[in-house]
Amino acid sequence: MNHVSAEITAFCDEIARFLRKEVDPRSRLIEESDAIPEELMQLTRKMGLFGLTIPEAYGGSGLNLAGKCAVEEVMGTTNYGFATVIGNHTGISTAGIVALGSEAQKKKYLPRMATGEWVGTFALTEPQAGSSPSDMRTMAVKKSDRYVLNGEKIYITNAGIANVFTVMAVTDKSKGIKGISAFVIERDFKGFSIGKNELKMGMHGCTTAPLSFADCEVPAENLLGSEGMGYIQAMKTLTAGRVTVSARCCGMMDHLIKRCVEFMKVRTQGGKKIAEHQGLQWMLADMAVQRDAARQLTYRAIDVLMKGERGTMEASVCKLYATEALGKVVDCAVQIHGGMGYMREVGIETIYRDARIVRIYEGSSEIQRNIIGSLLLKED
Ligand SMILES: Cc1cc2nc3c(=O)[nH]c(=O)nc-3n(C[C@H](O)[C@H](O)[C@H](O)COP(=O)(O)OP(=O)(O)OC[C@H]3O[C@@H](n4cnc5c(N)ncnc54)[C@H](O)[C@@H]3O)c2cc1C
Repeated sequence: MNHVSAEITAFCDEIARFLRKEVDPRSRLIEESDAIPEELMQLTRKMGLFGLTIPEAYGGSGLNLAGKCAVEEVMGTTNYGFATVIGNHTGISTAGIVALGSEAQKKKYLPRMATGEWVGTFALTEPQAGSSPSDMRTMAVKKSDRYVLNGEKIYITNAGIANVFTVMAVTDKSKGIKGISAFVIERDFKGFSIGKNELKMGMHGCTTAPLSFADCEVPAENLLGSEGMGYIQAMKTLTAGRVTVSARCCGMMDHLIKRCVEFMKVRTQGGKKIAEHQGLQWMLADMAVQRDAARQLTYRAIDVLMKGERGTMEASVCKLYATEALGKVVDCAVQIHGGMGYMREVGIETIYRDARIVRIYEGSSEIQRNIIGSLLLKED
C-alpha cells in the first residue's frame, strides 16, 4: 500500500498471525456469546493493538492513516466484532483526544487507552439526530468550573466495555453546528449512565449501547479544544473513519474471495469441481474487480488525506463504493457456497450479517451520495 513502510508491512504480517492463532479459533465463541473473552482481551493488549494510532510519546505505535488502513485490511479477515472493538477504539474514539486534547488530557487518558486498560468510544448519535447530527439535543451548560450535561446518545459502539467517552453536546444553541463542543466523560462521572447492550443482527462481540446524561457533572478541563470545536472535529474524525471502514471492507472482500476459491476447488457436483463452471468463475471475477476498485479508491482517499487536504469527496466516494461492493461480494460468497453458505458453522452467513452495518454507520450510503452530489454541484 502507498505510504506503508516495510516495518508496517511486517507489523501487519505479525497481526495476521495473531488473528489466525488467537482470534479465528474463538470466532464462533465470540459470535455465540456476543462478547470478547477476557483472555483474548488480555492477549490483544499484549499485542499492542489498542495503541495502534496513539502517538509513541503516550505509549502507542503512532500509526498514521495509511498504517491504520493497512491494519484495517488485515483486521477485515477476522471476526467482525473483534475488528470493530479495536477499529473503533483506535479510530474515531481516540482521534478527538489526539487531535484536540491538551497536554494534561493526553497524559491522563492516552497512555491507559494505548495499553487497552481503558477502552474508548465516540458518541455523536441521538434518538432524534442520526443522519443529521446537527439536530443534536444533548446540552452542556457551563456552571463555574464545570459543565452540566443533559441528554441521550444511542447506538454507541464499545459503550458496554468503555471507560472513556468522547461526547458531543450543544454548548450554544444559537450558533448551530458551531455551538457543538466535545467532552471527555469517564464511566463513573455522576449523572452519567450506560444502558443495556443492544441485541444486533451482526457485529457480535462488540457492544452497542445508549448513554444517558442526567445533570451529569463534567469538570471544565474535560472540554476538548475550545467551545464550538466539537462538530468540526467530529466531521474530520468521520472523514478519516470512512476511509478506514473502506479499508476493512477491502480486507473482508479479500477474505471472502479466498474462501470461495478454496471452496470451488474442492466442491464437486455432477462429477466435476464447481470451479469448472464458467458462471461461477465470472461471479468470482466480478468479486475481484469490485475489491480491486474499492482498494484503489481507498488508496486515493488515503493519499489525499495524507497530503493534508480535506478529502471529503474522496472519503465519501470510497466509503460508498467499498461498502456497497462488500454487500454484493458477500451475497455472491453465500451463493457460491450453496447451502453451506447459509449454515452457521461455515461462517459465511456471519459475514453476510456483519457486512450489513457498513452501509449504515459512519454516514449511510444515502448520506455519502448527498455529500458527493452536493460537492459536484458546488464545482465550477
Ligand atoms: C451497530 C451500530 C453502531 C453504531 N455506532 C455508533 C457510534 O459508535 N457512535 C455514534 O455516534 N453513532 C453510532 N451509530 C449510529 C449511526 O451512525 C447511525 O445509525 C447512522 O448515522 C444513521 O442514523 P439513524 O440510525 O438515526 O438513521 P436515520 O438518520 O433515521 O436514517 C433512516 C434512513 O433515512 C435515510 N436518510 C436520512 N437522512 C437522509 C437524507 N438527508 N437524504 C437521504 N436519505 C436520508 C438514511 O440513509 C436511512 O436510510 C451506530 C449505529 C449502529 C447501527
